[in-house]
Amino acid sequence: MTDYFRSNINAMAGYVPGEQPKPDAQIIKLNSNENPYPPSPVVMEVLRNFNGEWLRRYPNPFAEEFRHAISQVLGVPSDWIIVGNGSDEILNIVIRACTEPGRKVVYPTPTYVLYRTLTQMQAADITEITYSEDYRLPLKELVAADGSVTLIASPNSPSGQVVSASELRELATKLSGILVIDEAYVDFADENALTLVNEFENVIAIRTLSKGYSLAGIRLGFGVANPKLLSGLYKVKDSYNIDAIACAVGAAAITDQAYKNACVAKVKASRTKLATDLKQLGFQVWDSQTNFLLVKPNHGNAEDLYQRLKEQKILVRYFQQPGLEDKLRIIGSLFNRPGNRHIYYILGFFMGSCVLFLCCI
Ligand SMILES: *Cc1c(COP(=O)(O)O)cnc(C)c1O
Repeated sequence: MTDYFRSNINAMAGYVPGEQPKPDAQIIKLNSNENPYPPSPVVMEVLRNFNGEWLRRYPNPFAEEFRHAISQVLGVPSDWIIVGNGSDEILNIVIRACTEPGRKVVYPTPTYVLYRTLTQMQAADITEITYSEDYRLPLKELVAADGSVTLIASPNSPSGQVVSASELRELATKLSGILVIDEAYVDFADENALTLVNEFENVIAIRTLSKGYSLAGIRLGFGVANPKLLSGLYKVKDSYNIDAIACAVGAAAITDQAYKNACVAKVKASRTKLATDLKQLGFQVWDSQTNFLLVKPNHGNAEDLYQRLKEQKILVRYFQQPGLEDKLRIIGSLFNRPGNRHIYYILGFFMGSCVLFLCCI
């Protein structure tokens, strides 16, 4: 059986996505960083009025309508934008276009686990550089490794921290390969690095509609980069990677900035409150510019807490990997659904700090 596959495919583990229970399951899902709010009402309007004729035909190969909308919102020309079936596809395209055995992909860890999976599929070399406990960018080591592709998630998952534009600029200056800035959580952050794509032809910024726009189910992401860089990436892209429905939905969603901003503001307020409350319960909480928090229970064991929450039908994310085995990643928008407050009772109970916790609710 194993002989059917390339040796690197046999050797790799494969990406394990966060658990996805059925939509009607009585589970509180705090593990995949999804937005708790529904998509914009204009999205539902587009779906209701969608003309079946557009399903009979092949979609526009460049998702022109969506690209145009992105261009208007971000103030970048359309030909600086490439649209993907989720930002995962853009990451995939970059790694396929730029790497092969003997070429190196470099990134700091812990970070988005898919970077490793995509690199292993290419049988390219991997250099992982460990973040320090305070998650400062290991700039010198990243420069020294000088990958064909260097990937930086900013804000990062699961640490929640932003890398400053000045550090990214220094990195872009010193690297000979491509610098990918994965801005999946940019909508929840105070800063972004989009201007760097104007300054450097080796920089691509990648964004998604999955998190800020509540559209993880439609699979839309995009990259912004110099057209010279995009020309190579376009050769690798599937011809019709964005279906007609996603293209129309994406255009409507990104145009409705007011709705997105209102949802983001609510998520951020909830994130702040959750961070304060968890600190009172005795958790160590890292500052976050995303829609989630990385937290460390100071009593007891994170894996045990994860299991016990799961028994209570509350899913958080636990990563069995170096540097994370004592931490949990929890979506920051705990208050956005009625009934979620009982999670505090459970957390407080397991942390053995019921008294403190009762004071803070
Ligand atoms: C969620 C996430 C993505 C993937 O986004 P999609 O557009 O849904 O594929 C990419 N990078 C990071 C760091 C993420 O957390």
